[in-house]
Amino acid sequence: MNAIACQVVAIEALTHVVSKVVLAPAAPVNFIAGQYLQLCLTATDKRPFSIASTPEQPLLELHIGAAAGDNWSGAALTHLQQQFAAGEPVQVEVGLGHAAWQANSDRPIVLLAGGTGFSYVHSIALAIAAAKKDIPVLLYWGVKSEDALYYQTELASWAASNRKYQVIPVVQEPSAQWQGRRGLVHEAVLQDIVSLEAYDIYMAGPFAMAGVAREAFIAQGGHREHMFADAFAYI
Ligand SMILES: Cc1cc2nc3c(=O)[nH]c(=O)nc-3n(C[C@H](O)[C@H](O)[C@H](O)COP(=O)(O)OP(=O)(O)OC[C@H]3O[C@@H](n4cnc5c(N)ncnc54)[C@H](O)[C@@H]3O)c2cc1C
Repeated sequence: MNAIACQVVAIEALTHVVSKVVLAPAAPVNFIAGQYLQLCLTATDKRPFSIASTPEQPLLELHIGAAAGDNWSGAALTHLQQQFAAGEPVQVEVGLGHAAWQANSDRPIVLLAGGTGFSYVHSIALAIAAAKKDIPVLLYWGVKSEDALYYQTELASWAASNRKYQVIPVVQEPSAQWQGRRGLVHEAVLQDIVSLEAYDIYMAGPFAMAGVAREAFIAQGGHREHMFADAFAYI
């Protein structure tokens, strides 16, 4: 796959761990909502990041979680920051993965995000709304603590755009003030949906979450061929 040069337009903090990175490609890029890109640190060191934006948007948006000591994401973010400061482009390979949105399906949808897996479901959620799909779409976003949630106003207006769209944040270790759902995010899905047989399920997040969720969802009626996650290639 050919790499394309992108200017780094902005890097800003979404939380104390996650940064939003905006890239302007030197030429139009092709991808489907839910695909990822690889950031080329060198000719051989390429790191995958979900594309948070949609194909219709001219700029590429990434959400990179780089906690202290996280060398994998941290090195990618450092590279982006260095190129941004120098006004130099980065090289990316766009349009990868096998978990893209199936736009022709009219089955109800579960979007399951663990942590920065939100980037992936964000792209698909926006694409679904832009296509005016009038189907149930349940967006579950699991985080360790509630300060890891962002884009809450944007998500509220997404949910308000169709009464069949819903956002369910699930916090694993909430503060005493948290009034919403708690626990592991895939367990909230299992509690809410008695049979997953009818659903298309898209998931991104820690690989361990994808593995556990896949098995639990199959046990609750979900079909493997209607589950989409690039993490499956790694587990
Ligand atoms: C194709 C691809 C694309 C990627 N894209 C990105 C990207 O865009 N941005 C990025 O930063 N990284 C990306 N990564 C790297 C990796 O997926 C992330 O590092 C990972 O999602 C980080 O999760 P987290 O630390 O934010 O989640 P955590 O904060 O660790 O977990 C969030 C929630 O996930 C659930 N969960 C976690 N562990 C388990 C478990 N063992 N069992 C059940 N549920 C669990 C819980 O509900 C938990 O609250 C990508 C990797 C690949 C292969």
